[in-house]
Amino acid sequence: MMTVQECIDYVESHLEIRYATENGAYTSGRTITPQGAVNHSVGCAQPNADVFHKLMNKTSCGWGVNAILGDFHKGEGKIILALKYNSRPWGCGAGSKGSWNNTKVQWEICEPAGHTYAGGTMINYDIAKNQQFFNRMWKMVVAWNVYMVKKFGYPVSGISDHAESYRAGYGSNHSDVGQWWPKHGKSMDALRKEVQAILSNSDGVISSDVVKIVNYQAKVIADDGLNCRIEPVVKPGNIIMTYPTGTVLNISKEQSGWGFTGAGWVSLTYVEKITENIGTEDDDMDLAKFKEFYSQMRKELQDNDSSAYSKEAREWAINNGLIAGNGTQINGEPNYMWADILTREQFVTVLYRFAQMMGKA
Ligand SMILES: [Zn+2]
Repeated sequence: MMTVQECIDYVESHLEIRYATENGAYTSGRTITPQGAVNHSVGCAQPNADVFHKLMNKTSCGWGVNAILGDFHKGEGKIILALKYNSRPWGCGAGSKGSWNNTKVQWEICEPAGHTYAGGTMINYDIAKNQQFFNRMWKMVVAWNVYMVKKFGYPVSGISDHAESYRAGYGSNHSDVGQWWPKHGKSMDALRKEVQAILSNSDGVISSDVVKIVNYQAKVIADDGLNCRIEPVVKPGNIIMTYPTGTVLNISKEQSGWGFTGAGWVSLTYVEKITENIGTEDDDMDLAKFKEFYSQMRKELQDNDSSAYSKEAREWAINNGLIAGNGTQINGEPNYMWADILTREQFVTVLYRFAQMMGKA
């Protein structure tokens, strides 16, 4: 799997900026704030990117996309940037709810030679023969989608194809790219997954979900303080607070270089451990397990076991209606759960009943 930087380098070393200046989508000068992308494939057996650029670079052309990806029959392929990155494309048409032309950047991906079409279905498509073409195309498409997410910051979930634009009500009824990619075991979901995996790795998200339970103190050593985030990942908008330099934190969980402070997650690169780990023998302990044990323990306490010293007080509380039990019975007696924990809710209820008894409420 490529890294984000490798994707950027790969795209830039295969990119030609050659605007289709005659195209209506170019001359209109309209731009969008991209919230996603629409991946198209050309819908005919034509691998040459230049052929489509030539078609597009005419005033009479009824379509126009930000980029054309092709030439995978010759080698690694290329990307022609045919509109500006943020030009409003004439790509997916419109559906019942509107058009993703207003919100999503779009590109055409060239298909190999040799097949024909019946409606939206490929006929006589030779999978084995086209595998190499497909592999090169896939590498470029993944890198390009990563590149564009990095450029505009839209969510990976905003990446779609033409067929999805139709199903969502924001595009015309076309089958691309779902008529093609699944022949090689790929799909839009596979693309989104791969793009996300590449982005996640570089942003410090964990490839595994392993959370280690720890217990130690660490001091913030970052000069400008240390950001505490909702999740163990650097993402805009997920900062809860910033700990000043020197703050001592209690780290209770670790996940791939991040530590949990009780409030959120901090990067462990910027802290210095000041106490050693204690009580970490049970790596399998997690919140769900703890809750299970906690409720087991509570159940054991929820009976009428009690000590003699409180006898008088217990009888008084029962007789005055201050303690009512939980509605179940043990040995024919109400279950008063004497040894169980008193919640604040129960506490005020007892106080309230007492106040009522005293004529104060
Ligand atoms: Zn399309």
